[in-house]
Order: sequence, then C-alpha cells, then structure tokens
Amino acid sequence: MDLQKLEAVLQSQNQPKFRTEQLKKAIYQDGISSFTEISNIPKDLREILVKEMGLLSFEVQKVLVTKDGQSMKALLKLSDGNLIEAVLIAPKPDVWSVCISCQVGCAIGCKFCATGKMGLKRNLTAEEITDQVLFWIQYLKNINQKISTVVFMGMGEPLLNWEQVSRSLRDLIDPTLFGFGARSISVSTSGIPEGIEKLAMEFPQVNLALSLHFGSDEKRSQAMPINRKNNLETLREALKKYFLKTNRKVFLEYVMLSGVNDSREDADKLIRFVKSIGKLQLLHVNLIRYNSTGSEFKPSSKEHTVEFRDYLAQNRIDVTIRKSLGEEIQGACGQLAGK
Ligand code: SF4
Repeated sequence: MDLQKLEAVLQSQNQPKFRTEQLKKAIYQDGISSFTEISNIPKDLREILVKEMGLLSFEVQKVLVTKDGQSMKALLKLSDGNLIEAVLIAPKPDVWSVCISCQVGCAIGCKFCATGKMGLKRNLTAEEITDQVLFWIQYLKNINQKISTVVFMGMGEPLLNWEQVSRSLRDLIDPTLFGFGARSISVSTSGIPEGIEKLAMEFPQVNLALSLHFGSDEKRSQAMPINRKNNLETLREALKKYFLKTNRKVFLEYVMLSGVNDSREDADKLIRFVKSIGKLQLLHVNLIRYNSTGSEFKPSSKEHTVEFRDYLAQNRIDVTIRKSLGEEIQGACGQLAGK
C-alpha cells in the first residue's frame, strides 16, 4: 500500500484530514480488498481511488493450500516481474502466523536452503514487505480470522536489508497502521552482528531468532558460508551485547540434518556453544525438521530428533522440536524459491 500516493490523491481531491485515518483503518484494520468496500467515504472518491491506485504493490499469482487447511503459500509477482513467496500457517487453531520475505533470493547461500540457491536478485522495499502481511489480512478476513504473529523467516536475510526492514517494522507496530505488538514480531538472521546490534537498539521488543544449525565453526562454515566471516565467537559476542541491551529470550534455530549435524558429538558442541554465551535462561533451541529442497541433505528421523532433544534437555538446554508446517506446498522453512 503506497501511503504517500494515497495521501497525494486525497490532497488532490481536497479531502478533509480525517479521511486519511478513515482509509487507514479500512485498509489495515478492516482488511478491505477494494476501495469500493469502504462505505463511509463518498462514492466518487472510491471510484477515483480505484482508478488511481491499487491496494497491493504486487499481483497475486496463486495461493496454494495444504489439505488440512493449516498452511498456505502465496506466489506474488512484483512490478518488475520478480517473484516472491509469503506463507501463512496456523500452528494452533485460530492462531495464524505470517512468514514474510524481505529480499528476492538471498546472498547468504546456505547449502540446505532453496532460496540460497537463487542468489540475491534485489532487496524488497518496505512496502513490498508489509504488503505481504496486508495480503494475508485480506485473505483471512474471508474466514473471519486474524493474524497473530509476523515472522521474517521467508526469502532473504532481513539484517542485510536493514533500511527497508526497519521501515517495515515501524509500519507493522504503528498503531495507526497494522498495530501489531512488537513482541508478536520475530526477525530471523543467519548471523549479522551489526544487524543484531541495530535490532537491539531500535526494536528491543521484537524477537530475535538466530539460524545457528551447527555448534562448530568447521561444519557451520561448510554449510553456511556466512560463518567464514561471522564465526561462532563473533556470534557469541553479538548475543552477549544483545542480552545487555534487551535481556530478552533469543531463539536458536537448529535444522536436523541426518548424518551432518545430528550426532552426539554435534550435540556436545552445540551444548558447549550455548553454555559459553551465558544467560542460559534466555536461550531457547528450536529443533527443526529439514524439509526437502532437492539438495544432498536428508532429514534426521523423528526418533533421532527426540533423542537429540532429550540429550540437550538433560544438559540443561531449553529445547523444543518445532512443528513443521507447509512442506506439502513447498512452503516450509528453507523451501521458498519463488515457484
Ligand atoms: S536459510 Fe535464510 S539466510 Fe540462508 S540462504 Fe536461506 S534465506 Fe538466506
């Protein structure tokens, strides 16, 4: 939603100031899909708005829904023809979480991730980022549901598009726009220390998730090239600074890759790393099932993942196995590739 354009159209039509607030409410809170649905503004203004502008900055190419109706994925065509994806999942009944993209592709190149294989095409604008949320607000309105949480875990590395991501965060928590609580938003990073610092300074209430996946530099650098620049020691220091500023829980994401990072030795290295950060009570490890992306990696078995979890828990690590949704529509973690 291009707010500047909206305001320019209203000004050109000599509309009173309160009109902007009326429109913002209709768009962001009521989730209208067309200006024609706004009954409390003059009919001729509705027609002008429809003629002058759209509500979303992209075209919705398709929406895929899993058989159980718990996960949905939208393929969105941007004005320059690039494609991105945004996912909606219901981890619990009547709780909807939107997973949004912040870049077309990604420069980080994690070996287990479909987006990483695309390389980076470009950054998304703040408008393109928040419009993904707006689209799902409109979609959920049809089934009388609302979004509970927003996670920056789709395509791209949010902390490498900080200017636009921070603008989008401001809009998401702005009570006159989306009005989400900062604590209902999470930003996930592969590990960009200066970005973690900016997040802590500017949005201390927004949740941080770190895609850790390995407890040793050797293995992490093989699967996640970013580790050659920002190794585990760098991340440890970044997290320590983060805690000093926010004193808030950080989620460490750990994708379970069979025979790659799921041995007892891998668990021991992970435990050592987590304990070396200190503030154990503020660290939570999420074990994630690996979703097939056609790469050489295979998911660890359910039993093995449970064993891994129990071993971490015995060693006083706060840990859960995160429920994976959306694999059937290639909408789960690591599967987004603009298809
Ligand atoms: S996992 Fe995240 S950071 Fe890594 S390549 Fe995929 S989108 Fe980029």
